[in-house]
Amino acid sequence: MARLGLERTIWETVIRRASVEAIRGNNPLLHGGQLQSVRIQSQLAAKFSEDTVFSVAQLNRYGQCPFKFFMTNVLRATPAQEKADELDAAEQGDLYHEVLRKLFESVGTKVDIAWRASVPERLDKLLDEAWVRWDGEDANRRHQGRERALQERMRAMLHKWWQFEEGQLAERQGVVIPKYLEWSFGFPLEEGVASTSFEHSVSLGSLRMRGRIDRIDTTADERFLLYDYKSRSIPQGQSQGYDFQLQLYTAVVQQALLPNSKLAAAMYYSIEGVEQKGTVIKGAADDLGFGRRRKVSEEEWVRKVDGAINLAKVYRQSMQSGAFPVAPRVPLSHCARVCEFRHVCRFDPVQNARSEEFEGDE
Ligand code: SF4
Repeated sequence: MARLGLERTIWETVIRRASVEAIRGNNPLLHGGQLQSVRIQSQLAAKFSEDTVFSVAQLNRYGQCPFKFFMTNVLRATPAQEKADELDAAEQGDLYHEVLRKLFESVGTKVDIAWRASVPERLDKLLDEAWVRWDGEDANRRHQGRERALQERMRAMLHKWWQFEEGQLAERQGVVIPKYLEWSFGFPLEEGVASTSFEHSVSLGSLRMRGRIDRIDTTADERFLLYDYKSRSIPQGQSQGYDFQLQLYTAVVQQALLPNSKLAAAMYYSIEGVEQKGTVIKGAADDLGFGRRRKVSEEEWVRKVDGAINLAKVYRQSMQSGAFPVAPRVPLSHCARVCEFRHVCRFDPVQNARSEEFEGDE
């Protein structure tokens, strides 16, 4: 009997799914990520109102794929994860951030030759100290052989990164100083954040923001360089327009931290990849060793920042109206292999193309 009950449940599920697919076949917009209930829409309007404080990561996530945003920020679904024996990617990123913050906190008032010469030894010490703390937090993960190998790998990466960084600092010696490290806004103040950080959010027009900026270098003549560290790859989406972290962070800094300063460059900075990608401003960055890197005019950058703020507001309106379509702008390889929701989102490139056609016909 129990077996019959199970079979019945399975068949009911199959029939229900088949009927949904039949409806989607006639109208791909139905069951396509648009929440129709007026009651739910009014709840969403309150949840994503002008009083809501957004992080750039949330807005970028909506830009990458509204359905992914729905899973994480509306349903608050968290994929099950097995406890790893060694540091996962996020923990490795935290460790790199901590080492670099402490390294640059030791600079003092000038990046001079003596400080530069001390860096390799400082990196080793900072990494070892951070490692001991991590190790002490979870003794169950002490698989000594693998752990040691990972630690040495990260050490080698930090030294490789320093070779590149030292070249840049040497070129800019006396001109720039890494001044604000882990500068945050809209978060509770805690140990390790820059003392200039503040707890309140920053408003860009009607958009309230919170965030943490990894590093801001300044010059004596009031220019600044903004960096966002990544452990490995630099996010795609800057040129496609769905990643606007650097634009929004620049606007926040110019409004709340350095109102009299000009942006010279805003860059993603991969530690292991030893590369930087972002925007360098013509004129403002000419003497800062950016070589033949493509530069944009200040006016062009201001247009991009304004565009990013406006796009973020459009996203907010879409969230309020319940629009969470399965419409990824990330590469399909991300859907196929990386996204933690790939098993539940029913992403179908053919179906998506049909939805776009259908919307165009309306
Ligand atoms: S797999 Fe792709 S379409 Fe599905 S939620 Fe993730 S990013 Fe969106």
